[in-house]
Amino acid sequence: MSEALAGAVETHCPYCALQCGMVVGRAEDGRWAVGARDFPVNKGGLCRKGWTAAELLDAPDRLTTPLIRDRKDGPLRPATWDEALDRIAASLLGIKTAHGADAIGVFGGGGLTNEKAYQLGKFARVALGTANIDYNGRFCMASAAAAGLRAFGIDRGLPFPLEDIPGADVILLVGGNPAETMPPIMQYFEEQRRRGGKLIVVDPRRSPTAKLATHHLQVTPGTDGALANGLLHVVIQRGLVDLGFIAERTTGFEAVRRSVASYWPDRVERITGVPALEIEAVAELLGQAKNVMVLSGRGPEQQSHGVDNVLAFINLVLALGQAGKPHSGYGCMTGQGNGQGGREHGQKADQLPGYRRIDNPAHREAVAKVWGVAPESLPQAGLSACELLGALGGSVKALLVFACNVLVSAPDAAALARRMRDLDLLVVADIFMSETASLADVVLPVTQWAEEDGTMTNLEGRVIHRRKVTDPPPGVWSDGEILEGLAERLGQGERFAWDSGAVFEELRRATAGGAADYSGISHERIDARDGVFWPCPDGAGEGRSRLFLDRFETEDGRARFHVVSHRPSAESPDEAFPYFLTTGRVLAHYQSGTQTRRVRQLAEAEPGAFVEIHPETARTLGIAAGDDVRLTTRRGEIVARARFSRDIRLDTFFVPFHWAGEGSANVLTIAALDPISRIPEFKVCAVRAEPADRGQILPSEVARGHDLVPA
Ligand code: SF4
Repeated sequence: MSEALAGAVETHCPYCALQCGMVVGRAEDGRWAVGARDFPVNKGGLCRKGWTAAELLDAPDRLTTPLIRDRKDGPLRPATWDEALDRIAASLLGIKTAHGADAIGVFGGGGLTNEKAYQLGKFARVALGTANIDYNGRFCMASAAAAGLRAFGIDRGLPFPLEDIPGADVILLVGGNPAETMPPIMQYFEEQRRRGGKLIVVDPRRSPTAKLATHHLQVTPGTDGALANGLLHVVIQRGLVDLGFIAERTTGFEAVRRSVASYWPDRVERITGVPALEIEAVAELLGQAKNVMVLSGRGPEQQSHGVDNVLAFINLVLALGQAGKPHSGYGCMTGQGNGQGGREHGQKADQLPGYRRIDNPAHREAVAKVWGVAPESLPQAGLSACELLGALGGSVKALLVFACNVLVSAPDAAALARRMRDLDLLVVADIFMSETASLADVVLPVTQWAEEDGTMTNLEGRVIHRRKVTDPPPGVWSDGEILEGLAERLGQGERFAWDSGAVFEELRRATAGGAADYSGISHERIDARDGVFWPCPDGAGEGRSRLFLDRFETEDGRARFHVVSHRPSAESPDEAFPYFLTTGRVLAHYQSGTQTRRVRQLAEAEPGAFVEIHPETARTLGIAAGDDVRLTTRRGEIVARARFSRDIRLDTFFVPFHWAGEGSANVLTIAALDPISRIPEFKVCAVRAEPADRGQILPSEVARGHDLVPA
């Protein structure tokens, strides 16, 4: 296919964290098209999102001029870049003078390149002086990141390369559905099956991935941690733990051993709905295998006890002695294209570039030196994403949003829309008029994936080079140029000159000596090796694809067990809202759908919101297949088309979150946060359902809307 494309450039997909290699060039009809490329991650494979991604480059509704709203209830009108940036800078300075720098919030996206994420973090802390920057990666893999740091001393999605997957004898995949979310990765799982390996999937839905599994544990939403404790209980009871590994390479096992003593299989069956016999069979399988790999997706992570859930599965991995060797270990399957790099380089409220902690004086000093500022001038940790969004219109008066359609992707979206309207200034930089942009006071048109050079970091920690394919349309700026333009107006222009290559050089220096050390990575080395893994200190040779072979990244080099007790989700089904609601993605769409809803083939494949219901549940509710169903939670209500499936639990509804308006799943979800990772509980809340034509009965709390719910 690539031979037929004129001027084909080797680059990467704009969407998920697999960051598949592809080529983009002109097809015979003159339109942009995607071709296959033999890149080691995807080995020529792409999913339908990747194959159709070039359509975005020809999109007719592309934003190409800044837009300004002269009054809050007025329309957006075209403006020059000078007018738009002058307006933003004047407003930011006024807000800073009146309310302090922290009254300005910055919200980034997991799709930004490493260079842009780095520049955005620096802009917030140096040019604006605000502590309040966070990003939508907080909605994604934050619980796994926090758990990885606690247990292993480092957070890298997969601490091993994808090529380790086929060598695992047993894979336990918890709450992930890669067959739909990143299909090319399935070739690694298929190879594992061909070699005789087993795949166990934990999911409330019998997802396309679960259908490929040798065992499917159809867990009750919100009970993953209890299941992990139950598995560990059986493993210990049957003497299947690796006492040598535990003694040599870990700390804290004894307390965990005592804590899981009460998680006997019958009790865990009552909590999780997974039959005790299945728990025992899977524990035996795990305990007898030579190489075990445990992978988590968003299922266990997007919960108000997401960190605990992940730690419970890490306990299991450590007890089995299945870490620190090839073809085994725990890994998180990162979702967003650059979710990993986005937080490594300072887009997260508590982190500075190189995975440095913003509350660590030595870390602050190292980064401040590169930035040419005094360490004490850097703000401390700011509000996490949901807390920042919860403060809009209150302590936060202005919000700058880059590369994120937060109004569709954040929980409790109706309440968020109300708070956004209360802002003094909302600025949105995007490629299309997203739902969030449509509320903005100023909209800024920016470059998209193939219109600019940059680096991304995939789910393996492999830093890749996303090459520019074409120039952006006239009138469109890079996010980096916008930051430079604003910084000039804020008197900081010399620190923010935008050149992606030069910023990468600065990023290398800023990360030197940090946990995520990129100082030995260059474009040349990336191109020569199909990517370079971090950490890669300058002069230390190759990056490390496998971590933990000799030691873990904790101070004493040992991995840490953590005691985890099951606790219920923030909201459980009750009389008024008798079912579980869980949300997720489908094959044809990516995240908020801002891009994929505009691609014809994808929009035709999945044109709108639907709710997956078990037919027996639907029958008791008087719902027929294809009916419009009203779904109501304590936050609001939506209408979605009924799609029957016997693959979902009788007590659970599944709604994808890719759509806005009356089908917006996140109008329903709850902003209950994990106390450590501050991830919202997208995977569990209580819902009721009825045919949409039955008339509307709104409980008072639905009409009122809710603010942030503490976990
Ligand atoms: Fe690959 Fe993900 Fe793009 Fe699909 S969406 S082609 S899996 S990077």
